[in-house]
Amino acid sequence: MDGLKRLPIQAPERISGIVALAFNMWWSWHPDARMLFKRLSRGEWKLSGHNPVRMLNEIDKKALEEASKDPDFLVHYDRVMERFQKEVQNGGDKWFTRNICAPEALPIAFFSAEYGLHRSLPFYAGGLGFLAGDFLKESSDLGLPLTAVGFMYPEGYLRQRISLSGWQENLDEPLDRAGTAISRVMDEKGRPLLVKVPVIAPPIYVEVWKIEVGTVPLYLIDTDIETNDPWNRRISAHLYTGNVEQRLRQEIVLGIGGSAVLAAMGLKHPVLHLNEGHPAFAIMERIREGVSSGLRFADALQEVKETTVFSTHTPVAAGTDVFPFELMEKYFSPYWPALGLNRESFFALGINPEDPRAGFNMTAFALKCSTHRNGVSKKHEEVARKMWHSLWPDKTEEEVPIESVTNGIHVPTWIEPKMELLFNRHLGEDWITRQDRPETWEAVREIPDLELWNTHYWLKMKLIMRILERARERWIEGGPDARVVLAEGVFLDPNALTIGFARRFTTYKRAYLILNDIERLKRILNNKWMPVQIIFAGKAHPADDAGKQILQQVFNAANDPGSGGRIAFIEEYDEQLAQYMVHGVDLWLNTPMPPLEACGTSGMKAALNGVPNLSILDGWWLEGYNGKNGWAFGQKEGEGKSGQQRDLEDAAQLYDLLENSIIPLFYRINGEGISKGWVQMMKEAMISAGPRFSARRMVKEYANRFYEKCLLAIAG
Ligand SMILES: *Cc1c(COP(=O)(O)O)cnc(C)c1O
Repeated sequence: MDGLKRLPIQAPERISGIVALAFNMWWSWHPDARMLFKRLSRGEWKLSGHNPVRMLNEIDKKALEEASKDPDFLVHYDRVMERFQKEVQNGGDKWFTRNICAPEALPIAFFSAEYGLHRSLPFYAGGLGFLAGDFLKESSDLGLPLTAVGFMYPEGYLRQRISLSGWQENLDEPLDRAGTAISRVMDEKGRPLLVKVPVIAPPIYVEVWKIEVGTVPLYLIDTDIETNDPWNRRISAHLYTGNVEQRLRQEIVLGIGGSAVLAAMGLKHPVLHLNEGHPAFAIMERIREGVSSGLRFADALQEVKETTVFSTHTPVAAGTDVFPFELMEKYFSPYWPALGLNRESFFALGINPEDPRAGFNMTAFALKCSTHRNGVSKKHEEVARKMWHSLWPDKTEEEVPIESVTNGIHVPTWIEPKMELLFNRHLGEDWITRQDRPETWEAVREIPDLELWNTHYWLKMKLIMRILERARERWIEGGPDARVVLAEGVFLDPNALTIGFARRFTTYKRAYLILNDIERLKRILNNKWMPVQIIFAGKAHPADDAGKQILQQVFNAANDPGSGGRIAFIEEYDEQLAQYMVHGVDLWLNTPMPPLEACGTSGMKAALNGVPNLSILDGWWLEGYNGKNGWAFGQKEGEGKSGQQRDLEDAAQLYDLLENSIIPLFYRINGEGISKGWVQMMKEAMISAGPRFSARRMVKEYANRFYEKCLLAIAG
C-alpha cells in the first residue's frame, strides 16, 4: 500500500512532471534541476526560500503556461527529467547492486530522530540531523535499499531572534504543510493511514507522511491528529522536548510506532540501523515480533542483534537519554510480558552498570542489543570503548566491541555550484562519480591559482551580500535597535581575512574561546594593514541557559564599538546560512573541549570548498589534519589542565597562530593580487577532504562492513 495524498498542483500537460520533481528532494542536490525551478521565476524562487513546492503553489499560472511553450525551457526540462527518470524512477544499476547484492535481498530500515535535508524541511537541530540527511541522499546515489523513519515536528521550528541585550528569544514557526514536500500516506480505503502504537498503554495513535529523497522514502510519524487526546497530540510537537515523560513518549512513538508503521505498510526490514539512541525501542519491537511468532526471547534477541547496526554519536553524558524506572513502568508494564520477560529482566536490558539505579539507559540498551556498533570517528571509537567498558567487564578496553565509521558529507549537497563548475572544468565532468578516489582530487593542483582565488572571492562576496541583505530586511521590518542590526555584519569587508564559526551553542564547543583575551583580539581585528573579521552564527537549545549565556557574550563582543564592527553575529543559523558560510569564509574555526567533539562535519563542508580549518585536534580533525591543509592547536587531552586555565592556554595558542602564521600568510600578496601560499593551503584542504570525508566513503563503509554481514546472518 502506498497511496499518497498531497494538495493538487496544476501544471500544463507538457511539463506536468515538474510536480513529481518538486516533491522529490533529488532536485536539491542537482544544480541543473534547481536552475529549472529558478528559471520559471527568479522572484518567486527567492520568495519561496528555494522551495519548489511552495513556489508552484504560489506562482502565477501564466508563467507555467508560458514555460510550457518556451523551446529553451523545454530543452532544459527534458534534460532534467531524463536524468531524474534514469536515476530515480528507474532506479538503475547502481553501486549497491554491483557490489553487495540485489536490493530486494537486503531491505534496511534507518531510524533517526532528526533529518537535515533542506531549509524547507525543518526537521533537524544540528549535526546529527545533517548526517542522517546526507546518509539518505548518498544511499539514493549508491542505490542502497533503505527505508527511513523519523518524526514530523509540526510546531517544531525554532526561529532565533537576538535582543539588544544579546539574549536569544525563540519564536515557534508552525510547519506549513501545504508548502512542504510531504505527502500524506493513505490506507486502501483512501483514508489517512492510522496506526496504533502496539502494546503500549495508554494507547497512542499516529499518522504518516512521506518525503522522497531520490530513491529513498522517508516516513515521518505525526501524533498531531484528532484521534489523540491533547497530551498525545503534542508528543511530536517539538524536537527534543525537555519534559522527560514527553521525551520518553516521543522515543516510544519513534521506535515502536515507527516499526509498526513499517509493518502496516507491508515493509519488511530484516536489517535495522539506528542513528543514535533515540529510536532504540525499535529493537524492542523487533524482538517482540520474533517472540510473537513463536521464538523464545533469547533466540529472538540473538536474531535481532545480528541484524542491527547501532551508531552512537556523542561522548557527552547529557546526550544519552536515561528514563526513570517508574516512568518506564507506567508505559511498558504490558510490554514485558509480551517479550516473555518480568520487570527485572526487562529493566536489566537498559541498565548501565556504572550507574544501575539511574534508570533505563537508551545507549546501554542499544549497545547490548546490537552486534554492529560504531562511533563516528577513530577518536570517538576510543572514547566510546572507555565510556562503555563496564558493559563488557571481561574484556580489556581495547577489546570492547565498538568500532568506528568516520562521518562524511554529501558532496553534491555541500559543494557550491560555482565551485562545482570549476571542478567540472579541471577534474572532468564526471568527477562526482569518481569522488572517492584520491587521484580525482590530485587534479585540483592543476587549477590555476588565480582562477581558484577568484571563484572563492566571488563566494565571499556572495556571503557578505547575503548578510547585508538580511540586515537590511531586519531594519525594514522595524523593531530592532540599530545596534542589533550593526552587530549583524553591516561593517563586513570582503578584503579582510574572514573567520567563520557556526554551530550549536553548547558549552563544550566553546564559542567564547577566541574572545578569551578580548584586548588582544581587538588588536588583531583592527590591524590597519591586515584586518581580520569573524562571523558567528548558531542557536542555543531553548532550555540551555549556559548556551544562551555564551551566545550573549559573543553578541556583546559584536556590539562593542571597540571590535570595530569586525565581529558579526548572524541570526537564524539554518541549512541555507550554513551553505553561505562554509562556502564563503576564508578560514573555519573550531574550538571544542576534547574529547567531546565526536566527529564534527561543518569543517569538512568548508574544506571541500577550499576553506582551510583552524581547529583544536579533536574528532575528525585528528584524522584530517596533515600539516599542510590548515592549522591545529590546543592542549592535548588529559594534560590535567582544568577549565579556565585550559581556556587561557588554548586561546593563547590560537592568537599566536593567527599573529605569526595565518595572518601573514593570507596577506603575503603577489603582483597578481593573491597569496600563493594561501591558495596552496586551500588546495590541500580540498585534496585531503574530498575523497576521505565524503558521505560516499562513509555509506560504502557501512555497507561493506556492516550491512553485508547482516546479509550473511539473514541467509544463515
Ligand atoms: C553541518 C551542520 C551542522 C553540524 O556542524 P558541526 O561542525 O558538526 O557542529 C550543524 N548545523 C548545520 C546547519 C549544518 O549544516
